[in-house]
Amino acid sequence: MIPFDIALQTVLNNSQPLAGKEKVPLDAALGRVLAADVHSDIDMPPFDKSAVDGYACRRQDIANELEIIEIVAAGMVPQKVVTENTCTKIMTGAMIPEGANCVLMVEHTKPSGENKIKFLKSDTTANIAYAAEDVKKGSLILEKGVLIKPEHIAILAAVGGFEPEVSLQPRVSIISTGNELVEPYQVPGISQIRNSNSWQLLAQAQQMNVKVKYEGIARDDEESTYRMIRNAMETSDVVLLTGGVSMGDYDFVPGMMIKSGFEILYRTIAIQPGKPTVFGKKNNKFCFGLPGNPVASFVIFELLVKPLLYKMMGCEFSPRILRMPFAQEYKRRISERMSVIPVVINSDGIAEPVNYHGSAHIHALAYAQGMAFIPIGTTTIGKGELADVRLI
Ligand code: AMP
Ligand code: MG
Repeated sequence: MIPFDIALQTVLNNSQPLAGKEKVPLDAALGRVLAADVHSDIDMPPFDKSAVDGYACRRQDIANELEIIEIVAAGMVPQKVVTENTCTKIMTGAMIPEGANCVLMVEHTKPSGENKIKFLKSDTTANIAYAAEDVKKGSLILEKGVLIKPEHIAILAAVGGFEPEVSLQPRVSIISTGNELVEPYQVPGISQIRNSNSWQLLAQAQQMNVKVKYEGIARDDEESTYRMIRNAMETSDVVLLTGGVSMGDYDFVPGMMIKSGFEILYRTIAIQPGKPTVFGKKNNKFCFGLPGNPVASFVIFELLVKPLLYKMMGCEFSPRILRMPFAQEYKRRISERMSVIPVVINSDGIAEPVNYHGSAHIHALAYAQGMAFIPIGTTTIGKGELADVRLI
């Protein structure tokens, strides 16, 4: 049994970013990883622009009655120069006319005679967004390795990055094992259960925008397990199996991983749930034998498969771990493994362990917002005591 940290290091030390990159349209870039630095092709803002609707004028004139000489909407180029005791009516986002150095908010003015206004206050901020104050032309705006989120899409759009260069997507295959399994559209017979792991893993992989393929259920025999692993390896970089990794008479996954050419880097991790987790490598291909229990399968995907896939995408994955107080005392008898406990996080930032009967209890995850980590050697977390929590 190796500690979790070593299991993670083993995954990261043995993997590398996929070679190659591709261009994708901006509307397909969400969740992909930038394969090259992005520089801005323009100043932002590109010109001095008004931050408000109002009247552009000279600051030294704001106490006087101002004559409106022009109306400038966003997208128009001002034609007139603002001079003493004149102003240009201006809309948010429009270019500041020459001569003006501040904009009076429309809310702080009142009409004053024919085509004139008066400012109702004694002072104002400039209300101007100055050219290049956000970003200078040519400057680095997004770095290689950034995992693209909606706010990055906006930046790419603003700098003309309509086809960002991104890393390749790892190809992932999913196989469940178990003679007891039927698919969700089937009614389980006596002694059968529905296959939930494959669909959960599929969704976890989909959420990462990798190329994922469901291969089906392997029977609990050597031939079927071997054939499905070999088949999946042909077309994928990472093969994920669930079940068949423990000590039962029908647990053929580790043996068939070896027969398929994978070097096994570990077979058990000091973690609960998730102890029977097998990790193998063959050249640039990887195989995980994940636990059959759905909560364990979920947790190990989050803790080990995700970092592997992000590494292959060229992204350094560092999920935020928060130190949170526990809502109630947590106790366990045996502490030889790190425990991962689903928790609900209340609005005061207090972590409340959810009622959890063990690694088959998928419903426990349904409302959990975090996973709390109880370290090896710790048997008790007192009420109010801090524990590491990773948000899910
Ligand atoms: P195993 O490691 O194959 O012995 O499986 C451990 C437990 O997980 C058993 O109770 C299995 O029935 C259950 N299990 C295995 N695979 C799945 C799956 N794909 N979906 C739901 N439960 C599963
Ligand atoms: Mg099984």
